[in-house]
Amino acid sequence: MTYDVIIIGGGPSGLSAAIYASRARLKTLLIEKNGCGGQMTVTDLLENYPGFNDGINGFDLAVKLEMQARDFGTEIMYDEVTSIENGVVKKVISINGACETKTIIVAAGTSVKKMNIPGEEKFIGKGVSFCAICDAPFYKGKDVVVIGGGDSAIQEAIYLSNFAKNVIVVHRRDALRATKILQEKMASRANISVIYDSIPKEIFGNDSIEKIGITNTKTNEDKDLQVDGIFVFIGLIPNTLFLSNLTLDKNGYVITDENMNTSIPGIFACGDIRKKQLRQVVTAASDGAQAAVSAQHYIEN
Ligand code: NAP
Repeated sequence: MTYDVIIIGGGPSGLSAAIYASRARLKTLLIEKNGCGGQMTVTDLLENYPGFNDGINGFDLAVKLEMQARDFGTEIMYDEVTSIENGVVKKVISINGACETKTIIVAAGTSVKKMNIPGEEKFIGKGVSFCAICDAPFYKGKDVVVIGGGDSAIQEAIYLSNFAKNVIVVHRRDALRATKILQEKMASRANISVIYDSIPKEIFGNDSIEKIGITNTKTNEDKDLQVDGIFVFIGLIPNTLFLSNLTLDKNGYVITDENMNTSIPGIFACGDIRKKQLRQVVTAASDGAQAAVSAQHYIEN
């Protein structure tokens, strides 16, 4: 059987593409590696997604989007895509098989970036975390460090401050990148402090984390912070390893036009994986809708 569209990735862009494609009565398959929802599922509260003035939990929104896509007729398959092949009929190859399709929408998102410092690998899952919503309850009454100064770091520092005794944000510059409303919220939490101009250097401990060494980038002064947990939010890496045939920018993001066309006709990309300025759930959803409509036009023409 040949699908009209295969969507790779079940985050908000992939699920939105699925809703639009299956609602247009295209035979739609969505392939997801883990569980639907992507990074949104580890976000406690989405405050800026339109229509939810009290905010919505990221996992709850993911479940709603998945149900909506299934209700319109999207098939969802759990597998890891390893490559795609172009042709009149295109192929999506995954660990457990291969499927044929007229169009492909790549919505594979991003993965978290690691610090690559000594001690990080040793303590991943044992004190080093990339997910506050998953691990914050383990740090009730304890001291934690958050590395990073973007939206994720500050949002997750605020979440962690509900559990931890002290939250120290370590940021490499003298100004945060995070949006102002998050900075204001953080400032209202007495148990969050920020150390500026500092980068993590090494994590120390035996069975558990004892301290993290940081270096001041202006003075070169080293300092140790005694902490129980380290939460890392230093940005994202696009999941493009399986896409050797598409044109990427210098950071590995897929280059598209405003209609989500990639460098290969009939292959579209949407969401965080593509080169763009604003990576938000709302822009992911918008990208997904456009990618599905572009796929529909491609098939019709
Ligand atoms: P980000 O915006 O790329 O921020 C990464 C942060 O980590 C920056 O402050 C960066 O410092 C710092 N950093 C990068 N590499 C580092 C290194 N090797 N060592 C130490 N620090 C390092 O990533 P993000 O916060 O994960 O956000 C990703 C996207 O999702 C963004 O577009 C963001 O707006 C969006 N997002 C939005 C919300 C929301 O709207 N509520 C929530 C979460 C995420 P510099 O500032 O010096 O570059």
